[in-house]
Amino acid sequence: MRKYIIMGVQGCGKGTQAKLLCQAYDLVHISVGDIFRWNIAHHTKLAARVQRIISRGELVSDEIVAEIVQRRLSEHDWNYGYILDGFPRNAAQAEFFLESYDIDAVIQIVVPDEVVRERVLSRRLCSGCGLDYNLIFHRPRVDDICDVCGAPLTQRPDDTPGAVADRLRTYHEKTAPILDLFRRKELVLEVDGMQPAEAVQQEIQTQLGLKSSWR
Ligand SMILES: [Zn+2]
Repeated sequence: MRKYIIMGVQGCGKGTQAKLLCQAYDLVHISVGDIFRWNIAHHTKLAARVQRIISRGELVSDEIVAEIVQRRLSEHDWNYGYILDGFPRNAAQAEFFLESYDIDAVIQIVVPDEVVRERVLSRRLCSGCGLDYNLIFHRPRVDDICDVCGAPLTQRPDDTPGAVADRLRTYHEKTAPILDLFRRKELVLEVDGMQPAEAVQQEIQTQLGLKSSWR
């Protein structure tokens, strides 16, 4: 059984890395963002509750997020383990988690802020089919036009320089205490997220000690 948490600022590639690691070792990717999106798409009670909170201009509380994660983990639909993505988001959630669950490692993907800024500001989204592009890694063949459906590419409204700077600041403020807590338990592995995706994945597997036992 392998239980990991993956952390890193938006745009660091952690979703891709979580998926690759899940495929390689039959783990379940538990993404809090995906759980929220699934609930909203399926119009569940939880989604209605969360939308009421957001419509009042309030933030979804730590308790609700913790409840969602607990409920998801209690499904026990993993045979070989899981990777938790998007939780914990602050020190209170991290304390709760460490009290209630054991974890083998926290994978921290490290990418400098200026690189994150450049990656996020290069993101484009097809207005027709929703396909993701990136002007650095995955350019369309014709500028600003989707390769697949020919619709114009757009930017997400929150991918502006100011919004990215805000997200980076919030991320560092909230995650520094989480990482300190996990570091005291010697759980944190730092992985250089500046390498190509396959190399990042190799480094994660090596640092987790998975490769030697499987080859
Ligand atoms: Zn398209």
